[in-house]
Formats: sequence, structure tokens, C-alpha cells
Amino acid sequence: MNSSKNKTRILITGAGGFIGGHLVKYFKKQGYGFIRAIDIKKFDDWHQLTDGVENLSLDLKSLDNCKIAVKDIDEVYNLAADMGGMGFIESNKALCMLNVLINTNMLLSAKEAKVKRFFYSSSACVYAADKQLDAHNPKLKETDAYPAMPEDGYGWEKLFSERMCRHFREDFGLETRIARFHNVYGPYGEYKGGREKAPAALIRKVIEAVSNNKKEIEIWGDGEQSRTFMYIDDCLKGIDLIMHGEVAEPINLGTEELVTINELVGIVEKIAGVELKRKFNLKAPRGVRGRSSDNTFILNCFNWQPSISLDCGMKKTFDWIKKEMKK
Ligand code: NAD
Repeated sequence: MNSSKNKTRILITGAGGFIGGHLVKYFKKQGYGFIRAIDIKKFDDWHQLTDGVENLSLDLKSLDNCKIAVKDIDEVYNLAADMGGMGFIESNKALCMLNVLINTNMLLSAKEAKVKRFFYSSSACVYAADKQLDAHNPKLKETDAYPAMPEDGYGWEKLFSERMCRHFREDFGLETRIARFHNVYGPYGEYKGGREKAPAALIRKVIEAVSNNKKEIEIWGDGEQSRTFMYIDDCLKGIDLIMHGEVAEPINLGTEELVTINELVGIVEKIAGVELKRKFNLKAPRGVRGRSSDNTFILNCFNWQPSISLDCGMKKTFDWIKKEMKK
């Protein structure tokens, strides 16, 4: 196994971002022989820059750059996307849809370069809106993506690119693998600036409320919308299993530990040792009412599911964000 890893040449796109940065480190530790890491951002802006890896700053919307990216590569992990939390995707639908240029050109280049496997990072945002109306019973099976009515902009592009992966596999023989991530969080990701997602945003707000002595926190919506959140280490293990397994259909990659946003705030308050007054902003973006991963399929396929608890993952994320905010 290790000698085959040693000979495998992999490409990770979006490597300057949150999940991509961790994935480079994860595969480097496993002893992969060659890793190419690409992101559009300047190196100074990457969350993590790993030594002993070929790091490149390239815009993968360009077909020419995608051809450079896949040269002599066996496995592609395509995570590059212009995206962010609910606040970003609800007000940047066109930018999110333009990710189709990355996914189209990456698939075309991978096919031409005879890449052995292609991993695509899809999202729970592909699920149909009418299946996500109940905060108490929001489990989504893989088949719930159809009939299609995904998240406007970002979700439509993800669903389209999933289908493109499927047809490249069926028509051109490119082995594609697809995970639908459900809210990934952890250290070395955005926590301010507008692209951050709920866990990091809430941690930042709690830390700010404590340091400003304001004792108040703004919550988007009424806080009763429900979600599941997956710690980054579970996400990395899941990507590895799905990519190297034999299941080509999209698979949920998320936990089933359902919380409301109010409960998530409670977890952060407990870690920080405070209780804050909650101010609900009913005009802010809030997303669907309820969303959880249904893990029946991943359990059947791999006898595994993400299991790191929110208490444990949020504590690690809190400690990292607190350290960053002190800098
Ligand atoms: P991220 O924003 O931290 O990372 C994405 C990276 O892609 C960024 O660093 C960005 O600069 C890069 N990028 C954007 N456009 C590019 C281009 N034209 N060329 C090259 N690089 C480009 O996001 P993330 O949380 O690490 O997400 C990684 C992938 O997982 C994305 O495809 C995202 O849609 C998907 N996903 C993430 C979550 C989550 O909760 N984090 C949930 C569902 C799906």
C-alpha cells in the first residue's frame, strides 16, 4: 500500500483554502510521492502552505492552467471554488455559478491527461428546497437531490457539476468520485471578512462579545434553524475513503449530530465560559429551515461515518480562532 502511495502523483486544487490546505497535509503525512497544490490566491493568503509539495498560484477557470495542473497526475482532488458561508453565497450567485468554468476545464483536462481518478467536492446545498422545511426532521438521503430545486446559484452549479462528473465517467471512462459535504469546520479557515461559515462566525462573535464586554451576540434568523457540522479530520478521512472506494454515486459526507443554531451558540458560550444576550436578526440570510446528513448510504458502503463530536471539534476551532484574533 505504502509503495503504491509513494508512486501516486496527486493534485489538490483549492489548496490555499480551508479543506484543501488540510488535505495537502493529510496526504503528505501518508507518504504520497508527489503532491501538486494549486490555488488562485497569492501564497501569502493561503491558510496553510506545506513544504515539500509543488505549490502553484494559478487561476483554474482557464483551460490552459488546468492542463498545466493535471500534467503527469494520477489523482485529482478538485476543491477549488469561489464560495463562502450563507452570507456570501446568497449575495454572489453569479460568482458561484462561474465555478462551472473550473469544474468543466478540470474535467476536460483530466480526461485528456488520462488521470486515473477525479474527486469532486459537492455540497448539501444540492438538496431540494422542499425537503428542508422541517427543523426537527431534516435528514437528507442522497436521492433527495431530485426532483431538483437546489440552493439558488451555488447549489445549482454543484448539482450540474456532479452530473458532469457522472457523464464523464459513463461516456469517457474517467473514474469520478463525489462527496456531498455537510458544513465542514475547524482551524485554518475563514473566520472573518464575509466568507466565514456559522461555526467560525459564532466563535468570533462570542470572543468579540467577551473582549468588548458587550455581552450580546447577533444571530441570523431566529436561531431555530437546524444543521449538522463535521470536524475537518472526519472530512479528510471521508474524502480518502470515498476516493479510493468503488462507489461512483454522490455520497453524503457529514455527521448526524443535529443542533439548532441556538444550541451551537450554547456550545460556544460553554467553551468561553459566558452567557450572552441574544439579538435575533430576522432580515439576515438564514438558509433552509432544517438540514442533516442521512448516513445510511455511507455506513452501508464503508461501515464508517463521521463521528467527532461538536463539543470536541468546536473546542479545537475556538482555541485556534482565539489565538489568531490575539495576533
Ligand atoms: P475555501 O474557500 O476555503 O477554499 C476554496 C479555495 O478555492 C479558495 O482558497 C479559493 O481561493 C480557491 N479558488 C477559487 N477560485 C479558484 C480558481 N479560479 N482557481 C484556483 N483556485 C480557486 O473553501 P473550503 O471550505 O475549503 O471548500 C472546499 C470545497 O468544498 C469547495 O468546492 C466547496 O464548495 C466545498 N464545500 C465546502 C463546504 C464547507 O462547509 N466548507 C461545504 C460544502 C462544500
